[in-house]
Amino acid sequence: MKIKENISLLPYNTFRMDVCAKVYAEYESVDELRRLLAQYRGERILCIGQGSNLLFTGDFDGVVLRSQMVRARALGENGDEVYIEADGGLVLDELIDQVTDMGMSGLENLSYIPGTVGASAVQNVGAYGVEAKDVIVSVKAVSIATGEERIFTNEECRFGYRDSIFKNELQGQYVIVAVTYRLYKHGALCLEYKGLEGARTAAEVRERVIAIRRTKLPEVSELGSAGSFFKNPVIPVEQYQCLAARYPDMPHYEVANGVKVPAAWLIEQTGWKGKTLGGAAVYDKQPLVLVNATGHAQPDDIIRLAQAICDAVQAQFAISISPEVNYIA
Ligand SMILES: Cc1cc2nc3c(=O)[nH]c(=O)nc-3n(C[C@H](O)[C@H](O)[C@H](O)COP(=O)(O)OP(=O)(O)OC[C@H]3O[C@@H](n4cnc5c(N)ncnc54)[C@H](O)[C@@H]3O)c2cc1C
Repeated sequence: MKIKENISLLPYNTFRMDVCAKVYAEYESVDELRRLLAQYRGERILCIGQGSNLLFTGDFDGVVLRSQMVRARALGENGDEVYIEADGGLVLDELIDQVTDMGMSGLENLSYIPGTVGASAVQNVGAYGVEAKDVIVSVKAVSIATGEERIFTNEECRFGYRDSIFKNELQGQYVIVAVTYRLYKHGALCLEYKGLEGARTAAEVRERVIAIRRTKLPEVSELGSAGSFFKNPVIPVEQYQCLAARYPDMPHYEVANGVKVPAAWLIEQTGWKGKTLGGAAVYDKQPLVLVNATGHAQPDDIIRLAQAICDAVQAQFAISISPEVNYIA
């Protein structure tokens, strides 16, 4: 167990916000986690993984908890299926590297997404036609209030687009300590995205996904960001039809509750792509990504830029876009 007081969170968030936490603690077992929860009962608790989907808006007056539990184990097999349980603190991409190396499929499209196994369930991470919910069987979590363990089935996690019960009703109430995934020895690959056609193995899909992502997204080691800053909005069919008359080339996807429009396209139309505001900027290769352009951007720079973009999209399209990134006040 490691506990530090009044430390900068700069190394612990990929936006590289230099804010301070009252307490920062790491745990290596569920017992240590329970001891920390008991020690700091009554304090504000924030669990973080790699801090790759967070925007600290200022100093954090509470306890930041980070898992150092990083193992994965096979729980069993059922025909073609293999059940793998991974600790919440394991880096998701390290897990994917291991399982694809062993020939298992299911997670490969999520390759190279920054972050941990625990957060993959909170966020229901997704890329290239696959979401974490497609392969998550259950989530093991510890109650922050009582220290008791609870298993959530996939259904109980109420997964949605970059969403789960852990971001809604149960926000801030549980620490995810492990996730069980259902993978496949000879499962079908998801190759519907451009660039993945014809891949024959999970390892090949992984290689291609990594190559594509490297061309499109900033490396967080070089340029601070939290990935896609906004979610893609879903608008009513009637609104889409009105807009399509004005913007015939507007990309769109029909979904159950309306029409999904890529936020990146909307932002590009407003002219914000590549623009800067204070130390923050809209990434020039992908307008959905806001970056810490100078390396010294303040939380307020990012907040003001995000708000300016929302306002511009609202003014031009009457569409409200909302952040995917978690603001931590
Ligand atoms: C360059 C870049 C590219 C990205 N690309 C994608 C992408 O393609 N698809 C995608 O879906 N996301 C993407 N992301 C976003 C990010 O990688 C994911 O949201 C990821 O799941 C965050 O993991 P993390 O460990 O860094 O979580 P953090 O950012 O530390 O935390 C995210 C949320 O999860 C909570 N949390 C974290 N760990 C736990 C835990 N153990 N128990 C309970 N709550 C917890 C936090 O409190 C917070 O609410 C990208 C980010 C970057 C920087």
